Order: sequence, then C-alpha cells, then structure tokens
Amino acid sequence: MHNWRDKLIEVHDRLQQAAKQAQRDPKTVRLLAVSKTQDANAVRGLFAAGQRAFGENYLQEALDKQAKLADLAIEWHFIGPIQSNKTQAIASHFDWVHSLERLKIAERLDRQRPEHLGPLNVCIQINLDQEPNKSGISLAELPQLAAAVASLPRLRLRGLMAIPEPREQFAEQLAVFQQLQKALLELQTAQPQTQLDTLSMGMSGDLEAAVAAGATWVRVGTALFGPRAKA
Ligand SMILES: *Cc1c(COP(=O)(O)O)cnc(C)c1O
Repeated sequence: MHNWRDKLIEVHDRLQQAAKQAQRDPKTVRLLAVSKTQDANAVRGLFAAGQRAFGENYLQEALDKQAKLADLAIEWHFIGPIQSNKTQAIASHFDWVHSLERLKIAERLDRQRPEHLGPLNVCIQINLDQEPNKSGISLAELPQLAAAVASLPRLRLRGLMAIPEPREQFAEQLAVFQQLQKALLELQTAQPQTQLDTLSMGMSGDLEAAVAAGATWVRVGTALFGPRAKA
C-alpha cells in the first residue's frame, strides 16, 4: 500500500525548500502529478491526499482513467505528443496542453474546443537540446508559432514547456532551464498583450533546478508514484 499523503508531503517539501532557496513564493510553483502508466486507483489515492492536477501522455489511457474518475474534480493536463486524429478528444477532455509544437494541431484544438468549456490553456514545447528525434520546436521557430497560437480565440497561450536530457549536476540543469526562462522573458516582451505566465519544467530528478529557474509547473511522476514499469 502506498502512503499517498507521505509521498505528496515529501515532494511538497522539496518544492518548498527549492522555492525558499530561490527566494520565491512557494505558491507560485504548482505540482502536476504525472500519472502515465498508473492505474485509476493510484490517481484516486493521490487525489484523496489532496492532489488536484494530473498529467497524462497517452490519450486512450487517459480517457479510460477519466471515465473511471468522473466523480472527482481533477484538472487534467495533456503532456504527450499529439497526432491530428487525437485533437478532438484532447480539446474536449483536458484543461491544459503542455506539448504543443505545430500550428496545424493548434488550429484543430482551437476549432474543436467545445463552446461550454473555457479556452484551452496551452504551452509550446521547446526542444532545448535540439535532439533530432525529440518533440518540440527550436527557439528560433518560437516567435512565429507563438504569435500564431496567441491569435487563436479558443486557445490561451500560457507559456513554454521543455523536457531537457537528464543531467547530473545542478549547475548544468540550471543552465538549461534558464534558457527556457530567458525565452519566456523575450516572448513576454514581444507579446505584451498575451498573458504569458507559465514555465512547465522540472521532473523528479531535476525539479530543484527548475524551480530555481522560475518553473511554475513541475511535472512529477516517479517521486510520487514510484518507478514505472519499463515499456
Ligand atoms: C514521464 C514524464 C514526466 C515525469 O517524469 P518523472 O521523472 O517520472 O518525474 C514529466 N513530464 C513528461 C512530459 C513526462 O513524459
């Protein structure tokens, strides 16, 4: 049996420490529980312990879980790669998308966002390490995509997301996250009319460095749920 309360307190303690170090208000750092590969009961357990925001990478898995958890007021975030044929369901079943990287996908989400829901919160994913087979756009492509996404009425562009390669040293982790922080600052200057307030970065292994560089969502799986089974 997991003690979800203890797990949650442990991660919140890390976040609080990191915020204190960075002289930030801990309330400005929100915890996204990444529940990919975890079953609905695990999500239910963590919810009962107080967690409200959950992130999923795979649409079908997420929809199955959502159906079993329909009685809970969960804020759902989509954080995985998005294919065109999945946009309708994503636009209908999520509050946030962190992994936007193509205008065509943004336009579909905008068109398909149901009227009775508010605008869909989105972040643009940046491939900071410029790894060829990884998701995300380059920083050079960002201004153009951001301007186009910001003009879509049913989307609300909130900021940037990245999944850097794992690095051992805090200083190295920090330097990479600071690139994303700088990119957000530049975007805020270029688009003062857009409410850009979000940096989605930091996972179980590097959340302290992410908080030091201004993360507003940290996405944590392993530190809450334990190691995932290898796919
Ligand atoms: C799996 C995943 C995480 C969580 O990673 P952990 O190392 O388990 O904390 C965060 N973000 C994304 C996009 C993921 O796919």
